[in-house]
Amino acid sequence: MSRDDYPTDQPAVVTCGLPYANGDLHIGHLRTYVSGDVLARSLRTLGQRTAFVSGSDMHGTPVAVNAEREGVTPEEFALEWHEKYEATFPEFGVEFDNYGHTHDETNAELTREFVREWIEGDHVYEKEIQVAWDPEVDQPLPDRFVEGTCPYCGAKARGDECDEGCQRHLEPGEIENPTSTITGNPAEYRSREHEFLRLSDFQEYLKGFLGRLEGTDNARNQPREWIEGELQDLCITRDMDWGIDYPGEGKEDLVLYVWVDAPIEYVSSTKQYSERVGDEFDWEAAWREGAPGPDEPMDETPADAGEIVHIIGRDIIQHHTVFWPAMLRAAGYNEPRAVMASGFVNLRGKAFSTSRNRAIWADDYLEEGFEPDLLRYYLVTTGGFQQDIDFSWGRFQERVNGELVGNFGNFVYRSLLFAHRNFEGTPEADPSEEVLEEIDQAMEAFRAGLNDYSLREASKAGIVLSRFGNEYIQRHEPWKLVEEEPERAARVIRDCVQLAKAAAVLLSPVLPNSCERLWEQLGEEGSVHDAPLAACLEDPPGAFGEPEALFEKIEDDRVEELDEKLEERVQAASAAADDTAESEQEESEGEDAPEGLEPLSDERIGFEEFQELDVRVGEVLTAEGIDDADELARLEVDLGVETRQIVAGIKRLHDLDALPGTRVVILANLEPATLFGVESNGMLLAAGEDADLLTTLGDSEPGTKVR
Ligand SMILES: [Zn+2]
Repeated sequence: MSRDDYPTDQPAVVTCGLPYANGDLHIGHLRTYVSGDVLARSLRTLGQRTAFVSGSDMHGTPVAVNAEREGVTPEEFALEWHEKYEATFPEFGVEFDNYGHTHDETNAELTREFVREWIEGDHVYEKEIQVAWDPEVDQPLPDRFVEGTCPYCGAKARGDECDEGCQRHLEPGEIENPTSTITGNPAEYRSREHEFLRLSDFQEYLKGFLGRLEGTDNARNQPREWIEGELQDLCITRDMDWGIDYPGEGKEDLVLYVWVDAPIEYVSSTKQYSERVGDEFDWEAAWREGAPGPDEPMDETPADAGEIVHIIGRDIIQHHTVFWPAMLRAAGYNEPRAVMASGFVNLRGKAFSTSRNRAIWADDYLEEGFEPDLLRYYLVTTGGFQQDIDFSWGRFQERVNGELVGNFGNFVYRSLLFAHRNFEGTPEADPSEEVLEEIDQAMEAFRAGLNDYSLREASKAGIVLSRFGNEYIQRHEPWKLVEEEPERAARVIRDCVQLAKAAAVLLSPVLPNSCERLWEQLGEEGSVHDAPLAACLEDPPGAFGEPEALFEKIEDDRVEELDEKLEERVQAASAAADDTAESEQEESEGEDAPEGLEPLSDERIGFEEFQELDVRVGEVLTAEGIDDADELARLEVDLGVETRQIVAGIKRLHDLDALPGTRVVILANLEPATLFGVESNGMLLAAGEDADLLTTLGDSEPGTKVR
């Protein structure tokens, strides 16, 4: 039985994957949080009672490793990031009803309750396993303390996940060719006793669950392969101090695996929200109402279960569609109704790379003084939710200027200005059938988009409406009517004000600040975020003042300047990093690259692909630093056939005066780029952090091809 369309009578819980308290947020992370916020706001507009919750993920090995490196306790380290996230989200209009963290008492207690239920239901057993061990420092190497090769796809894998390959979760002992990230030594294996959640008890249940699950296709389809055949049990304990203590007897030296207490934070955070608002939201009604006991079968979703929707990055699908539903079921909780797994955000076609500083950081965006609404709009309406989307300042400008300034902003401004000047507000007239019909269709598109889990479609409804409005006002030319036929002009403008009001309601989830301003300009009472969808068709207030433009155009020179800043930052970081791993997909939590050498790439390329690179011997003719740039130098390089100007991040790393006459190696057919106003036409090849320049052993002439 498929579930009722939203809005339903049941409470909904919208959650976002917990940010890992280990590093700065970039706009790739923000994509899921903004989407969660847009979904929660949209559901409320539809009339669905909704709690929007998340929290920081405080445990796990990366936090422990980095805290040790900084000489602070893991708790201090993680709390600092937690507070930063808590402050950053609202700056992007992401307003959680509750934002907790996994180390707080509510979550520690509830996590232990879950595990006790599993133990009671006989879903937990003990097993001796081989655990990676560093003989030099004589300690176990849980999760991120070890890296090696994925046994499933052969990609380089870190600890508990194959984040650069098949994205599978890896159990302790599974990783091949393990090396310690503490010492870099090959790891040994030693026997340890650990606790396991018997996932195989839930194999049949999970098959049924995946058949019922709503959300994005990737979240339903990918796990099918993982639950076919033998379902591997989940090791739920680790040899660590940092984490929530395992509640079983005689096991005080073990903590729970981070992926046990992390998703339980969704429940804990909802519980904290309930504790704050009382009857307004009952967390148990959402998470437990109607659920059969842990040992009873659950073949369909209970009729009165809450509407639980998880919004996550596509790298953690398995955790949310296999482990998590089994964990919930084993404790007698309800299952998620939907999982929406988003693609990543790329920067001009390539994955963000935090270690290369190739990312748009949340702080950077805010420091540039852009409205959060603009980025929200870009992230939600560019590409399908499952697809990776591309960010460039140029495309950002295009979308803002075209759709927000040129379409929506322009329509509401001209309509309200005309109304104010000629009628001191909404003219007295009835809206036309044509316009009411158009608004009705937009409301339907909004509703349908949400029920399809397409935030893009839902958000487009208001934009389509304002496009119609622009066309409508152009078609009727009220400025020509106002003298001769004031009544007709009044009717046209009355329609336009109605369209503006409807657009404000429909776009308020994705553009919360701008639509709130528009709501005020319309002379409406209260907040647009409290207005139900039906308000689209309600009469606007009579009088309002002179409107102000909602959006500001982004000029070309602004984009140029932003591109240059970004390019310099990337070049500087690239000069300090090895280029060979440029194509690697960094995982979404924002981990730093491991220290020391990167392993050789497992991804092979064909000879033809290599031949596409036009690599040449060159001779440096001149080299000088670029003013205002800290890292960059401008070189003129003789390539035999022609002389090229090349910008390279070597200003501080080399004695520029000594370079003329040096043989270098140049990638000649790289696309030109402009850095600090200087065009770079090719790339100087160099090795390692010191940008050790590649040269030739013999005396090949400039222009000789390297093959
Ligand atoms: Zn793999």
